[in-house]
This record gives sequence, C-alpha cells and structure tokens, in this order.
Amino acid sequence: MQEKNTSVSFDNTELAFKYKSEKELKQAKLLFSLMGQPALVKLGTRLTPWAIKNKLPVKGMIRSTIFKQFVGGETLAETAKVAEKLGQYNVQVILDYGVEGGDDGEAEYDHAADEFIRVIDYAATQPNIPFMSVKITGFSRFSLLEKIDGLMHAASGTLIKRYLQVIEQLDPAEKEEWHRVRTRLLRICERAAEKRIGVLIDAEETWIQDPVDALTILMMDSFNKTTAVIYNTVQLYRHDRLQFLKDCYDAAAERDFLLAVKLVRGAYMEKERARAAAQNYPSPIQPDKASSDSDYNAGVRFSLEHLDRIALVIASHNEKSNLDAVAWLQQHQVPLNHPHVHFSQLYGMSDNITFNLAAAGCSVSKYLPFGPIEDVIPYLMRRAQENTSVKGQTGRELGLIQAELKRRKGA
Ligand SMILES: Cc1cc2nc3c(=O)[nH]c(=O)nc-3n(C[C@H](O)[C@H](O)[C@H](O)COP(=O)(O)OP(=O)(O)OC[C@H]3O[C@@H](n4cnc5c(N)ncnc54)[C@H](O)[C@@H]3O)c2cc1C
Repeated sequence: MQEKNTSVSFDNTELAFKYKSEKELKQAKLLFSLMGQPALVKLGTRLTPWAIKNKLPVKGMIRSTIFKQFVGGETLAETAKVAEKLGQYNVQVILDYGVEGGDDGEAEYDHAADEFIRVIDYAATQPNIPFMSVKITGFSRFSLLEKIDGLMHAASGTLIKRYLQVIEQLDPAEKEEWHRVRTRLLRICERAAEKRIGVLIDAEETWIQDPVDALTILMMDSFNKTTAVIYNTVQLYRHDRLQFLKDCYDAAAERDFLLAVKLVRGAYMEKERARAAAQNYPSPIQPDKASSDSDYNAGVRFSLEHLDRIALVIASHNEKSNLDAVAWLQQHQVPLNHPHVHFSQLYGMSDNITFNLAAAGCSVSKYLPFGPIEDVIPYLMRRAQENTSVKGQTGRELGLIQAELKRRKGA
C-alpha cells in the first residue's frame, strides 16, 4: 500500500488528458460548447428520445458526438478498448450496462438480469474492472416499485419491517412478480460474490427508492459478511439521507455486516422538485446547493471515520469533496488506496480529478456505461442536462480542455 503524503491537486491538465488525442480534445470542446447553450439542450433532450422512438436516422450523429464522449460502446467488447486505455493510467472501470426504467415485460427483465451476470463474468476476466453497477428498474416494473414504495410510506416501523409487512400485503400475482425481481437480484449478487466483483446498486427517484433500499440492505446482510460485495447508493441531495446513512451503519453494526455505500449528491433534482410541487407534498430535496454539499461532505467524513465497518465509493465531480477526502486520509495516515475507499467519476467528465487521483495512488475509476444507443438515451439526456450550466460543470470541463489545448500548442 502506498504511504505518500504529497498534496494532491486537480490542476494538471497534461495528466488529465494524456489519453486523448488533439482531435478528440477538439471534439470534446465543441460538444461542451454546444451543451453550454440551454435552449439547444432543452430542444435536444426533447427531440432526441422522440426521434429515436420514431426511428429517424439520428443514431449516426448521436454515436459520433454525445455517445462517444460519455459511453464506452454499444457492446461489452467495445468497452474493452476504453478500459484498456484507462488501465494504462491506473484508472479502473465500473461497468454500467445502460438499461433502465421501462415497463418492458418479464422476458426483457430476465434478459437484463442475464446481461448483468454476463457483465460480472466479463469483469472478472479483466485486470481493472472491480465493480459493475445495477439499476433495479432494469429488471423490475417501475409501477410495481412505485406501489411498494407508496405502501411502505403508509406503514410504520423500520425500513425493513415496513418492507416485509408490505410484501405480505401484495396480491398473489404481485407477490409472485416481486419474488421474481428478488430472484433476479439474488442471482446477480451470488455471481458477484463468487467472482469477487462489487455490485453498485444505483439510487433512483424517491418514489421508488424505499423498496430498492430495503432489498439492497437485505442483500448486504447476506453477502457483505466479510468483504464488501453489494453497495447501496445514498443521495445526499435528499435532506433525510445523512440520518439514513447513520441508521444503515447502526443496522450493519447490529447485524454484523459491512455497510458498503456509494455516496452521490443525486441526479434527479428538477424532476423531484417538480413532482413534489405538482402533487403538493414537501420536497425531499435540500433547500439549496450548500446544504447538499454540507451533507455530502458530512456523509463522506462519517464513512471515513468508520472504515472498519463501512466501504465507501466517493462518486463525485466536486473537487472540494474529493480533495477533502484525500486530505482526511493523509491526515489520519490511512493509505490512499485503502481497500474500503474508492473514488469514481463518470466517463467523459472530470478527467482532471480521476487521472490526478490515480497518479497520487488512489483507487479510482471511471463509471463506464455501455449499451445500444436507444437504451442509453435516458443516461445521455441526464448528462446533457447536467452539463447545460456554463457556470457549472460545462464551464469547468471547457476551461480544462481549453487549458490543455493551449498547453499542447505551447509545448
Ligand atoms: C460514479 C458515479 C455514480 C453515480 N450514480 C448515481 C446514482 O446511482 N444515482 C444518482 O441519483 N446519481 C448518481 N450519480 C450522479 C450524481 O448524483 C450527481 O448528479 C453528479 O455527480 C453531480 O454531483 P457532484 O457530486 O459531481 O457535484 P457538484 O457538481 O458539485 O454538484 C451538483 C449536484 O448538486 C446538487 N445540487 C445542485 N444545485 C442544487 C440546489 N440548488 N439545491 C440542492 N442541491 C443542488 C445536485 O445533486 C447536483 O447534481 C453518480 C455520479 C457518479 C460520479
């Protein structure tokens, strides 16, 4: 394990973009410039899903622009080239099979579960793919999750008690259906444990999240006895999640399993606020960015302070959150590549953080989605939306790319 105590900085654009050619950098610059125009993004995020659904010939354009920037390829084999390139810089990969959120039918759900297992088998053959991610909505009917969540809200007691009560209340057909969802996840977890690949369960909308949390905690109780195999995701843009993290820790201590968590701020802010306003209930989202930041950093700190029982993935593009975590590890003389601490950023974003963390000796990865274009469209539309603000991520990305292009010109 490495013991360096050098200060880490995210300013080195040479390191950040070494893996990109000048042509690729210029393409990225153009893309981020376009995404900096909110009107264009608004139009694009409406028209693109419609164009795909109506089979208009837009795939080629998508493939050579936004898909290329944020996605590893259409097939598992295509991700290999990207993973290999990242591996040259000690950057690992979290494979994300991009299926999500449809009411696709049982055959499709079974197929998705098989695909997740195929990803695990593949990851186990690769030197730098220690994790894969799973969306429960990839193999469960959204409206069933929503129903269980609603019933859980009406019940009382701990999360797990409410969950068990509600499953008993389902009608026989739904009980069967839910049993199939659990079986799919169980198969995925069993294979992951066997192959020693970590499974990160994504967090989604609040109105389906309770059953996802309950199911994931029950899987942790079974599979995380000695090593962290199953990870839940905690969205700290929710004002109730710091307490939730602490409650999960207490449950893990009581039941004697390792709590494995991926900490994120959260990707569905506008949707959450809009639904809360439309349906007249209090928004589950923090009142402002500073509150999200404060709870995120407190969540990271809490997890670092309990590394004996918590395995943590710091999944963020926020420079301060990442730097604070590194500084904490250094101050407490915890190796930067401690087996319970991992950093991750989305492929196509914040290369300055990823590659500089890797160079400093941290365990760090890119979250790499892959799948047919039509399946990854919702993911791509979220990336476009989150990159619209010139003050925010786009400004950061553009500034870094421009700095590197300038540096190469002068070099
Ligand atoms: C590896 C990885 C895995 C991820 N997995 C998931 C997942 O499973 N589920 C999920 O939901 N997201 C996931 N995300 C996305 C993540 O939730 C964030 O949307 C994204 O990373 C931006 O947050 P940030 O920490 O990078 O930092 P920043 O860019 O500093 O923060 C932006 C975030 O702050 C919050 N925010 C912004 N403005 C406000 C405001 N006015 N009030 C309150 N909060 C505000 C929002 O969450 C916004 O996305 C993942 C991200 C990564 C890197």
